[in-house]
This record gives sequence, structure tokens and C-alpha cells, in this order.
Amino acid sequence: MAYDRFGRNIHYLRISLTDHCNLRCVYCMPEDMTFRPNAEMLQDDEVLLLVRLFASLGFDKIRLTGGEPTVRAHVVDLVREIAAVPGIRSLSMTTNGVLLGKLAQPLKDAGLQRVNISLDTLDTVRFKKITRWGSFDQVWDGIQASEAAGLTPVKLNAVVVRGFNDQDIAGMAALTLDNPWQVRFIEMMPFGGATDLQRQQVVTAAEMRGQIEAALGPLTPGNNGKLDGEARIFRLPNAKGELGFISSVTAPFCAACTRARLTADGKLRLCLLRDKEVDLLTPLRAGASLEQLRQIVLDGVWVKPWGHGLAEGEFATNRVMSEIGG
Ligand code: SAM
Ligand code: SF4
Repeated sequence: MAYDRFGRNIHYLRISLTDHCNLRCVYCMPEDMTFRPNAEMLQDDEVLLLVRLFASLGFDKIRLTGGEPTVRAHVVDLVREIAAVPGIRSLSMTTNGVLLGKLAQPLKDAGLQRVNISLDTLDTVRFKKITRWGSFDQVWDGIQASEAAGLTPVKLNAVVVRGFNDQDIAGMAALTLDNPWQVRFIEMMPFGGATDLQRQQVVTAAEMRGQIEAALGPLTPGNNGKLDGEARIFRLPNAKGELGFISSVTAPFCAACTRARLTADGKLRLCLLRDKEVDLLTPLRAGASLEQLRQIVLDGVWVKPWGHGLAEGEFATNRVMSEIGG
């Protein structure tokens, strides 16, 4: 088992399968983003070796992310092999949904259990403005295909950015009235100079809740008041689905953090919002034994930072979200 020095058992690994993406969301990366060469990235056999290694340390929950995980070559085969690793109890993916129309069923058949799909607005014009390259209809098809394939419960992630989609909050929340989905609203996190967006464009979870209650009625707490991962859960009156609020900026959930991240270039990142990383790819390619790699992971987890410093104005500066695996 992997513990940090604060006694937290770290058993949830988010793996960035690639830093590449088929969209260019305004809060995530610049339009002229440059990507790392493939040779610097974890290859399929390296991903699998590390998944087995993490599983042997008690990691039982994996989320595949990116960049856009579905643009990785052979992603279905890789999912199949990860799903078969003994000890992996939960396997999910965070995706922009663009390719799910054709990939949802193969991914489900390969052993993927659930998806979180990013959708920030129901307005096709604003969707284009936020994602720069995306088509709303394609993502909507992806959501339907995921539900049909049984990648459920479908969770939708909406990052709210003032001036882009703050008028869409109630409309997105209303999706839960008729659909058994979890619609999760995420406070935008400011990332070291990667985007033109400003702190003033952060919409707080409290403001989002206020807008939803004004439009759709009172929210009642769900999940017995406990966090569902990083989300605080609520429900609208008579809704089939539920709402989640991820308030990383205004009410961090660091005390309950159980996660570590593996970047696409093979670094163990201990906190999304702290620059501290431990290189796994270099020792792996230099021939380190499994026992040596296990020790590197355990030592890295031990010094996991307590939490982020957004409230103190401290930001991660060495990577953007797509490189870390949000
Ligand atoms: N491409 C996939 C997607 O968009 O779902 C997976 C990777 S993306 C980096 C993971 C999540 O991070 C998405 O839900 C995205 O909306 C969110 N995200 C990206 N930039 C963010 C930011 N600056 N603040 C908060 N969330 C962000
Ligand atoms: Fe791509 Fe996801 Fe970043 Fe949007 S949020 S640019 S879909 S990695």
C-alpha cells in the first residue's frame, strides 16, 4: 500500500495517455499548442508495466485522461489490457466525447466501466467558441452512444468561464431533470500563463448554485452529504440525475485526496496544482528493476504535497492541464 506522510492512502491513479488533443478549449491550451515527440512518451508496454506496478502497490482505481485519451493509437487494445490487470477494480475515462460515437461500444467491450464527458454548454455557437474546433452534435452523439453502450452513469463535466458559458449553467443543470446523468460544474483553475483567461473569469461554485436555484428550485444535498470523488453532490426537485460541484478554487478537497497522476511522458505527479514530479520513464528505460521502480513510487507518494496553494496565489507553472491529465 502507498501512504503519504499525512497518512493518506494513495490508490487512485489518473493516467494521461497523450498530451495531444483534437480540440483546443480556451481554458486548457492555446490554439497553436505544440506537443511532445512520441519518443518521449510512454509506449503501450511501458504504460502496462507501470499499471501492473501501481496495482501491486494497492492502486485499484484508474482513470484514463489526457490530452484526449481517445486519440491515442490502439486505445481500445490498451484499455483491454489495463482492464485485465489483477487488482484494478475501477477503470474510467475522461474524454471530450468527440470520438465516442464510434468508440463507446468497443471501449465498453474492452472493459472500460464509465466515462466523464466534457460539455460546457448546450449552445452550438458557444460550444464552438469554447472548444475552438469542436462540433456540439458530434459530442452529443458521443453522449448518447456512451449511454447506449452502458458506460454509465454518464457524467458530464462543465468548466464554467465568465464571459463564455456562465449563462448556460441552469440549462446544463436542467439536463438532470430528464436524464439519469451527473452534471458536474467545475470552477476554472488558472494555469500558469497557458491561456488568456483571468482569475476574474472564475465563477465560484456558490454563484453557480445560486443561479441554478433561482432558475430551477431548491437543491438538496445528495450522497449523504459526502464527496463523490472531488464533487459535492446535490439534486433538483424530482430530477432523474444529480448535480456535482467541483470547487477546487474556493473549497479544496485536498484533505480527502487519494490520487496521483502519471503524465504522458512518464512522470509521477503528486498534485495537479503543484509542480513536484518524480521521473519514472528515465529509470524504467535505464533498466531499473521492478523493486527499484516500486521504491521510487513509494518515496514519491510519501512526499506528496498536502494541497494546492491557489488561495495563496500559488500556481503550477511547469505544465498545462492537457499535459498533466486533468
Ligand atoms: N480531453 C479530455 C476532456 O476534455 O475531458 C480529458 C482531459 S481534460 C484536461 C480533463 C478535464 O479538465 C476536462 O473536464 C476539462 O474540462 C478540465 N479542464 C481543462 N482545463 C481546465 C481548467 N483550466 N480548469 C478546470 N478544469 C479544466
Ligand atoms: Fe482537449 Fe480536454 Fe483540453 Fe479541451 S479540455 S483542449 S478537450 S484536453
